[in-house]
Amino acid sequence: MLDNCGRNINYLRISVTDRCNLRCIYCMPNKGIKFMPESNLLKLDEIHRIVKLTSELGISKIRITGGEPLVREGIVDLIKDIKSLPNINEVCITTNGILLAQHLTSLIKAGLDRVNISLDTLKEDVYSNITRGGDLKSVINSLNFAVDNGLKVKINTVIMEGFNSNEIMDFVAITENNPIDVRFIELMPIGEGKNFKSISTQQLKDIISKNSSLTTCDSITNHEGPASYFKTEKGIGKIGFISAMSHSFCENCNRIRLTSEGFLKQCLHWNSGTDLRSLIRNDITDAELKEVIKRDIFNKPIRHKFNDNDNNSDNRLMYQIGG
Ligand code: SAM
Ligand code: SF4
Repeated sequence: MLDNCGRNINYLRISVTDRCNLRCIYCMPNKGIKFMPESNLLKLDEIHRIVKLTSELGISKIRITGGEPLVREGIVDLIKDIKSLPNINEVCITTNGILLAQHLTSLIKAGLDRVNISLDTLKEDVYSNITRGGDLKSVINSLNFAVDNGLKVKINTVIMEGFNSNEIMDFVAITENNPIDVRFIELMPIGEGKNFKSISTQQLKDIISKNSSLTTCDSITNHEGPASYFKTEKGIGKIGFISAMSHSFCENCNRIRLTSEGFLKQCLHWNSGTDLRSLIRNDITDAELKEVIKRDIFNKPIRHKFNDNDNNSDNRLMYQIGG
């Protein structure tokens, strides 16, 4: 359906848990994390109910995220149930990839269309450092397994000065040797992200252009979503830049978000939206719930304000929202 600015909102991102098997330095604090009680997490049938209603309002693409979505029990069945809804065309997952290989066959059988794997370094010691103990080999194994099984794969990479900024061309090389898109995501000043220095899209493009020629692919992509895509001369996969900070992509935004405790978020930045869990647990009817969701989609804010200080920004952290 169209929102009040005429944007076609057809994409719902669902965080299915705030738990994670890693502790990436820019996402989660090392200690003192207060995970929400299990009873506050939306149950899988509650998620399914919300997806069904949003799909009747024009949502056709679903992304499952977290925390780490693959630590949530029953995730494969949820994906299968969502994919079998008549208006849902595409179900994707964003994962750190640690547990992906062991679930991949069932996920493909359940109808998973695409996978985005978050991977910020190709060096084992740096990976362990950034993720506070993660094992790079499991992720590479998952990545290869996904490609070998014909799944469409994107790598999401956050480049931070002093950590992985010397690996930019190694990620570019992945797109030259594999049918994999690599997307460089600008670090957002949310929670722990405030403690690190991001490399901007322009800086990345300058570094890559010194070594390879970059050609835009935007004329051949449908330009939905926040990334702008390029290729090098030898590129099989594409190089995407997600520049939330330096270039707002709000005018093309097509998404809403559901947090793991059931808050329907209209925008990544703003705290506006509705606590759907309370409504569901107080016996709201499908027709009433659909009206609430419709109102929230229609009233989606025009743009984020990450670059301003204001009182309406969300205090939720990235692992609670799902990215
Ligand atoms: N655990 C899964 C994963 O890592 O792919 C899914 C959830 S994670 C919150 C989703 C994405 O958010 C990851 O690609 C991660 O790099 C990104 N992310 C986390 N904190 C961020 C920040 N402050 N700025 C930009 N991206 C961030
Ligand atoms: Fe976990 Fe993903 Fe956050 Fe890393 S980025 S701590 S894998 S939720």
